[in-house]
Amino acid sequence: MKSFYERARELNDTLLKDRRWLHQHAEVGDQLPETVKYVMTRLREMGLEPREICPGGIVAHIYGKKPGKTYLLRADMDALPMQEQNNLPFRSQTANAHNCGHDMHTAMLLGAAQLLVERTEELEGCVKLMFQPSEEQFKGSLAMIQAGVLEDPHVDACSGMHVMLDEEAPAVGWCSGSISSSCDSFRITVKGVGCHGAMPHLGVDPINVGMHIYQAFQSLIARESPPKETVVLTVGQFSAGTTGNVLPQSAVLQGTLRTYHKELREKLVRRMRTVAQAAAAMFDAEVEYEVLSAVPSCIGDPELTAELAEYMTEMGGGRVYQAKPFTPSDDMAFLTERVPSAYLQLGAKVPGNPYPHHNACVLFDEKAMPYGAALHAQCAFEWLKNHH
Ligand SMILES: [Zn+2]
Ligand SMILES: [Zn+2]
Repeated sequence: MKSFYERARELNDTLLKDRRWLHQHAEVGDQLPETVKYVMTRLREMGLEPREICPGGIVAHIYGKKPGKTYLLRADMDALPMQEQNNLPFRSQTANAHNCGHDMHTAMLLGAAQLLVERTEELEGCVKLMFQPSEEQFKGSLAMIQAGVLEDPHVDACSGMHVMLDEEAPAVGWCSGSISSSCDSFRITVKGVGCHGAMPHLGVDPINVGMHIYQAFQSLIARESPPKETVVLTVGQFSAGTTGNVLPQSAVLQGTLRTYHKELREKLVRRMRTVAQAAAAMFDAEVEYEVLSAVPSCIGDPELTAELAEYMTEMGGGRVYQAKPFTPSDDMAFLTERVPSAYLQLGAKVPGNPYPHHNACVLFDEKAMPYGAALHAQCAFEWLKNHH
């Protein structure tokens, strides 16, 4: 019997074809009509019966010939609304680009589906395939959970992976506990009173209030967060005014809080709101505080993660190593809150390409794909074999 990795390497041309088609037809959010059509067609070609359970969210089941539990494999399918800058012959033909590598995630899960469909005689239980939209907006996995992805049949364990740029293929990192940071994005609109720049006493200057909020936010990190905890609070947008001699009516601060620490997250989210309101009160202004996203950390279940590390080592073909947590967030977090989960980091660094995720020039190494597809299949197959 061939290992999943040997078989996945035979399927390499298909993996490349799928990935490049998806790359060329990059779509964003939950508006993924071409992507969904392509993925559903490919799954039907394998004899599966995929269903779109919410906009852009596809589920398909692979039932083994033997009874057993249910293991969910998850991939995200959405791209970013940006242009890529590279010389790839399969560059995106849309206004969007797969600069987070989700095209590879989708292609690898299709590859894993093929590998598992070929082994249903021995497969125990059910592998549920989850292709989600809107990861970049942190909305897709929650939408699919609300549409019932974790039930019928009930999911007992799950895993997903992300292509990473710190290791060359073939390599896979595992990590238990907090893996990705939480992400709390906000927009604060300071409402002042506009007036002539030479008569500021007749208005309320929203830029001044915004400056105090900005400064106080730095103090929340420097003075209220334990020095040993990882925490980032960034204001990436601060906009106000149109010219030099007019005090504007309002100012907008938009930013994001990231940390791995659940209690610290809760405290800072509360303190940020208080500080913004207090700064406004200090100068007779008002603030509107909007929550743009609130995503917890991805938590790797220690027991499941250790088991998968064993299965992946048994399969061979790549370097299996203990990875570090990273600061970007992933909305797989909403799955990890509900089901014992593992989140794997797949090495896909292109030697010599220094650009990070979400950069217009980023590249991901397609050599990672057969390994990633095989890891998906191996983890699901072996876990189901060992749990009844
Ligand atoms: Zn991304
Ligand atoms: Zn991503």
